[in-house]
Amino acid sequence: MEKQTIQPFLSVANYHLIEQQLNKMINAYNTTKDKNVILAVQGLVDTELTENLDLDPDQLKLIDQIYNIRDHTQSDVFLESLKLYVIPFKAVTASKLKSLFKKEKKLKLPKLESMDFHQICYLTWDDVSTHRKYIVLEQQGKLKAIKGNIDTNVIKGICAVCNRHSDVSLFTTKVKGQVTDTFTKYSNYICADSKNCNKNISDLQRLNDFFERVTH
Ligand SMILES: [Zn+2]
Repeated sequence: MEKQTIQPFLSVANYHLIEQQLNKMINAYNTTKDKNVILAVQGLVDTELTENLDLDPDQLKLIDQIYNIRDHTQSDVFLESLKLYVIPFKAVTASKLKSLFKKEKKLKLPKLESMDFHQICYLTWDDVSTHRKYIVLEQQGKLKAIKGNIDTNVIKGICAVCNRHSDVSLFTTKVKGQVTDTFTKYSNYICADSKNCNKNISDLQRLNDFFERVTH
């Protein structure tokens, strides 16, 4: 029988989760020879993956290869091959971005061609001249947009998007209130480096919660 090809089945966040779990195991292999400790770490990884990924037997067989990986060289090869199974961020064009931010008269667009859509859970870029930050995310197949001001000051703190302790900046959004000419301001610390932030995201819930919080 012909070998069945596996269709892309991992979200970008799923991919990051697998990468993080792999790193956790490699870290254990490098720091201990104690079999029980290693088994315990593998057990934790297994629980984490089972709870977050809903895999059919073929997909499971593919992911289970991580338990044979012992170092970063093997891990890099595996993660590269796994990219084939990642569902990228929804394809977006410059005109689509313009329509998402149609109130912005001088919208500065990001360099879409230099973005790796297989690595981002959300799309973001800054206009450094105006301190504007634009964020686009996907919810139920639809693109949603947020814009706000990003402070130039970078401090250590917890990011509201990925929940990691990192270098963060204050991001402030303004939402129209019920009464005309009233606004509600929301300020959140988020990662100054959005590439890193995206890499940290292994669960989209917090990103979606963040969006709900700053847009209502
Ligand atoms: Zn972050």
